[in-house]
Amino acid sequence: MDLYEYQARDLFEAHGVPVLGGIMATSALEVQRAAAKLMKAGSELVVVKAQVKVGGRGKAGGVKVARSPEEAAAVADEILGLDIKGHVVRKVMVAQGADIAEEYYFSIVLDRTKRRYLAMLSKEGGVEIEQLAQERPHVLIRRSFSPLDGMTDTLARDMAYEAGFDEADIPQLVPVFKKLYEVYVEEDASLVEVNPLVKTNDGKILALDGKVTLDENASFRHPDHAELQDHSTTDPLELKAQKMGLNYVKLDGNVGIIGNGAGLVMSTLDVVAYAGHKLAEGDDVAAKPANFLDIGGGANAEVMANGLEVILGDPQVKSVFVNVFGGITACDEVAKGIVQAFKILAADGIAPKPLVVRLDGNNAELGRQILKEAALDHLEQVDTMDAAALRAAELASRTNLVAV
Ligand code: GDP
Ligand code: MG
Repeated sequence: MDLYEYQARDLFEAHGVPVLGGIMATSALEVQRAAAKLMKAGSELVVVKAQVKVGGRGKAGGVKVARSPEEAAAVADEILGLDIKGHVVRKVMVAQGADIAEEYYFSIVLDRTKRRYLAMLSKEGGVEIEQLAQERPHVLIRRSFSPLDGMTDTLARDMAYEAGFDEADIPQLVPVFKKLYEVYVEEDASLVEVNPLVKTNDGKILALDGKVTLDENASFRHPDHAELQDHSTTDPLELKAQKMGLNYVKLDGNVGIIGNGAGLVMSTLDVVAYAGHKLAEGDDVAAKPANFLDIGGGANAEVMANGLEVILGDPQVKSVFVNVFGGITACDEVAKGIVQAFKILAADGIAPKPLVVRLDGNNAELGRQILKEAALDHLEQVDTMDAAALRAAELASRTNLVAV
């Protein structure tokens, strides 16, 4: 999970990394008030900063300095609503402004191939690091280190020397690097980047911008990270699926997909896409997968009903393809799950759409028999994966579907 700058700033502050104060705002008026508050508290200048999860905000006009609350409101007007690389600015941080003498770069990332961490440091910060790494690689110091050792005083000092920092600045830099490493480890991050880390005119080191990526696999260790999730940009169906604990990814086609096992679901997407091409007339593809949904091994009625509910809630979906290969879970159990799921959906008043079911593997015959006897409306069975995909694509491509 990538964090917004203001969230990174909060984490930095919580771990004792030196940062400046910031107040969030969503309108020019709020910005003006926030700026007035910061200036009353002693800031000579404030910086209005677009909060979007993309780099290069400064260059795109998303970071602006203001010297009065009125000026802050005026620049906020320009920044709010701005489109930065496809991200529309809805909120800004009004930050205390720093008198910058020098801008540096510091980051820690996970190096998966080496099973180590990589720290990077440069005296030339504030610029795009990819560009720096390409054009002036010698000024970007890279040090690989073991998680068992961590960011030691020695490593921090060595890096600073090698990067060419003045002797006098090193006692201030070392604890900042160590605290940023503390953020990295204690928050289970896979990236902590500060660009720029600055020295102010009165000689203070400050983290002025922060980029943090948290490892969601460790979220069970951090209940407090849940509130860092930004639901405003998540697809509502994905959000609903997330709450139900489903492995669902929204795509932009018209054939809803349910399968058991990620591999099977991936190949189901392929065969549906293929069928869609096969039925294409001219350049128009007839059908495309509407989603990825892996209901896993269990495939009980509730999971099936939840999966169908999410998929049927997608207005683009015109047909649904349930593709199950019985392994440990026998097909008769899955069939019973489907029958019960239909009852649950009917009780909830959720309208069905044409559904193609392919059952194969463990107890497939029994499963097919159960579905046949249940004679569910809108449900038809096809025995092979390719033929079932073709049928689902065909159903989706027809207009004005009423019943199967
Ligand atoms: P980015 O462009 O998305 O990386 O946004 P940053 O937060 O890094 O800001 C871009 C640039 O704006 C920085 O490199 C600084 O030059 C400038 N900037 C940011 N904060 C301040 C500040 O407090 N005072 C001054 N004078 N400049 C700032
Ligand atoms: Mg930056």
